[in-house]
Amino acid sequence: MRNVVIVGGGYGGLKILNGLLSQALPEDVRITVIEKNPYHSLKTEFYTIVAGTAADIDVRMQYPKDERVQYIFREVEDIDVENETITVNRKTDRVISYDYLIIGLGCEDNYHGIDGADQYTQSVQTFSKARKAALAVGNSEAYSRVSIVGAGLSGIEVASEIRESRPDLNIRLLDRGGSVLKAFDKRIQAHVSDWFVKNDVEVLHYANVEYVEKDGVCNNGICYVNDVTIWTAGVLPHHLVRALPYEKDDEQRVIVNDYYQVPDGKNVYIVGDCASSDHFMSAQLAGQQGEHIAGILGDVLHHRKPKKPSRIKLKGSLGSLGSSDGFGNMYNRPMTGLLPRLAKSGVLWMHKRD
Ligand SMILES: Cc1cc2nc3c(=O)[nH]c(=O)nc-3n(C[C@H](O)[C@H](O)[C@H](O)COP(=O)(O)OP(=O)(O)OC[C@H]3O[C@@H](n4cnc5c(N)ncnc54)[C@H](O)[C@@H]3O)c2cc1C
Repeated sequence: MRNVVIVGGGYGGLKILNGLLSQALPEDVRITVIEKNPYHSLKTEFYTIVAGTAADIDVRMQYPKDERVQYIFREVEDIDVENETITVNRKTDRVISYDYLIIGLGCEDNYHGIDGADQYTQSVQTFSKARKAALAVGNSEAYSRVSIVGAGLSGIEVASEIRESRPDLNIRLLDRGGSVLKAFDKRIQAHVSDWFVKNDVEVLHYANVEYVEKDGVCNNGICYVNDVTIWTAGVLPHHLVRALPYEKDDEQRVIVNDYYQVPDGKNVYIVGDCASSDHFMSAQLAGQQGEHIAGILGDVLHHRKPKKPSRIKLKGSLGSLGSSDGFGNMYNRPMTGLLPRLAKSGVLWMHKRD
């Protein structure tokens, strides 16, 4: 038997799994998915979990059932690329061997070495951490102070969703630059800034968080007393990926060839937030890479020479400002208001039916 092991069943891992299952695979191929949660998590919706505007069940999907796949719902503790084994946590360790390995473990918060950030802030990067953040926000007393550090896409969505969920809270967004969403068009930046003014979310520009304490954030020499602090100020690839003995880019993502293979170990493929790319990390990117990898691996498993994948073509990004407003740059056209918000719901709907 040849064992194809997929570690991480997120946007990239699931796309590869579905892509492989849609093909007639050779009889000797067996697929093993190792994923810590017994469901696929819709990470792009975690801001709704944090704000308490969606239930868990709305933000997860069941994995496909197929006799060619076995699932191991355990946390990966070690990836040994020399001996080609994966160790998962159990009461007694369990070791799984692979012939082909796909790594799609996603990313983690980057605390940039800021004291107290890891210890005292809430995170939106995993389902369990988003649930923990939801408890902190949901259990906070009337008029509590919530600070969100980082005004990129996830920070904006978290701040606006919490505002919609809890009109009483005092919400502050700390933005490193002079305008929120610095990667987006000026029209979008203006729309989002207006939304925050109208909806009473304070935005502090040119933020430079020096340290975080249990009860507050110290920024540019001023310490703000806080009840809940949420960290959305950058990410790094998963720590198991950062520890792999492979060449990495400046963001510690593994450098891959045109076939998403690690040049030093061509039976190892990297997808999504863990793989070096010219593009910014996103679910859309992970999905397209996943489609490519499924095609390449299908050829490899049939002992055919894989075709070089086409260039990645991203459609643009969409973001929400609560349930009825949003923004996006679709096919390079800036859009604001209800339309991009509906488009975002449409993308989610399609992913759930994929
Ligand atoms: C709040 C928020 C909003 C976002 N909005 C958008 C958006 O609108 N559009 C967009 O394109 N992108 C968005 N993103 C980014 C997007 O979610 C990621 O880029 C995408 O999920 C990356 O896909 P992936 O397959 O690399 O990793 P993931 O989808 O994160 O999957 C990683 C998988 O690995 C599993 N895993 C992790 N560690 C272990 C372990 N030790 N053992 C076993 N399993 C493990 C996880 O449970 C998970 O299932 C958003 C992110 C956040 C946080």
